[in-house]
Amino acid sequence: MTLRDVMKYMESEYNIINNTPCEVCGDTYVTENFDIALIEDMTYDICECVCPNCGHEKIFEFHAPFIDEDDLKNLKKKLN
Ligand SMILES: [Zn+2]
Repeated sequence: MTLRDVMKYMESEYNIINNTPCEVCGDTYVTENFDIALIEDMTYDICECVCPNCGHEKIFEFHAPFIDEDDLKNLKKKLN
């Protein structure tokens, strides 16, 4: 999978976040921090989100089986 495909996948994750209303006040979350984690050999996108209205925090985890180690390195490079 190319980096472009990965970015496309991440875009759809952002769509999910944008379409998830805050549990407390119903506002739209914004992404504060983004990370990729390896948990038991599985790759996960971890998105730390916060509600700009009431400050409620929510962590979105997306299973990302498409990211192999090379993609991960490229992605980290791009994010840094
Ligand atoms: Zn809120």
